[in-house]
Amino acid sequence: MSAPKNTSSISDSLEGLPYERLEEQLEASGVNPLHAKALFNAVHRRLEHPLSSGIERLVPPLQRWLTSQGAPTACAMESVSETPSTDGYTHKYLLRLADGAEVETVQMGFPGRFTACLSSQVGCAMGCVFCATGQMGFARHLSAGEIVAQALHVERQLRGLQGERLRNIVMMGMGEPLHNFEATMTALEILTDNRGLNIGPARVAISTVGHIPGIEQLARHPKRYSLAVSLHEASEDERAALVPVNKKWPLADLLQVCRDYSRLKRARVFFAWTLIGGVNDSDDHARRLADLLRGMDAHVNLIPLNPTEGFEGDAPEAGRVRAFQQIIQDSGLPSTVRQRRGIDVAAGCGQLKVARANRV
Ligand code: SAH
Ligand code: SF4
Repeated sequence: MSAPKNTSSISDSLEGLPYERLEEQLEASGVNPLHAKALFNAVHRRLEHPLSSGIERLVPPLQRWLTSQGAPTACAMESVSETPSTDGYTHKYLLRLADGAEVETVQMGFPGRFTACLSSQVGCAMGCVFCATGQMGFARHLSAGEIVAQALHVERQLRGLQGERLRNIVMMGMGEPLHNFEATMTALEILTDNRGLNIGPARVAISTVGHIPGIEQLARHPKRYSLAVSLHEASEDERAALVPVNKKWPLADLLQVCRDYSRLKRARVFFAWTLIGGVNDSDDHARRLADLLRGMDAHVNLIPLNPTEGFEGDAPEAGRVRAFQQIIQDSGLPSTVRQRRGIDVAAGCGQLKVARANRV
């Protein structure tokens, strides 16, 4: 009698299985691993969701394998609301996951350069005081499949526009991606796979609060994704007041790790500075920031604060933002002011969910 085939169900939804893992899963169930190509294609190229709608296009062994999984093989993700900004460029999607948890995904950009801003967690454990997601607290990590499914959702919307497709991914939605390292890396492996959405690794940005062990791991990772580090303050005490995890991962250590990362990867590091009127927007702050980054291949992204309910603070006047940027520029550092497009859709981190929760 032959040994029973291993038909153990898959550990994540199909969207969250990298090509090679899909091959392994099929082989373990006695299905020819070459069929992985058709399945990967159905999920990541034809964007069939739920997969059952396209199941009859697959060869019978694959159909049988999918049915034998017993549980839904495609990540159940329902779009609860879609909010376009008045300028028409930004769309914010509130997506409900199988367990009822909700995350947001933002589609930004113009024809030819669309970007998806993806969430990595439901809530966030890092507790930055000005951040709506931080104010919610941490509920759970997202699986790789739930991260990938957000990008597929955006790609599906873009297919409706003539010749458009997703070009860039930023891990700047809800959550701290390096706190959910494995799932984030698996998701990015899938999204950059040239048999799938084929997003160039250089077009993927991972934004972190300054999770030092995660940055060190990222430095050893074979792919060169773009790294963005959220600084917001230039001294230990001031930073700890806005970003509590500064006590665990102090600014001085963080900057050293960023220097090492930049050298090792030969990559520019992007530093985010959320500008809060009267808190971290003075000329002195700008000069201290420039001093901290001197000698590093760095770029500064200035983000005027999106006010949140749980934090008394506002964006500085436009003139103050310009003066701050001028000092950064004069020090020789490249910089950009991120005027949050679509601020009318509450495009700040986590804010759509908060707005909705308050209505109920
Ligand atoms: N956890 C990661 C990525 C998600 S937050 C991180 O902190 O980097 C993405 C960016 O939005 C961060 O730079 C964060 O500081 C910024 N941000 C959060 N809340 C904001 C707000 N209310 N106004 C402006 N920027 C905000
Ligand atoms: Fe978390 Fe980033 Fe918000 Fe801080 S800014 S609470 S790390 S999502």
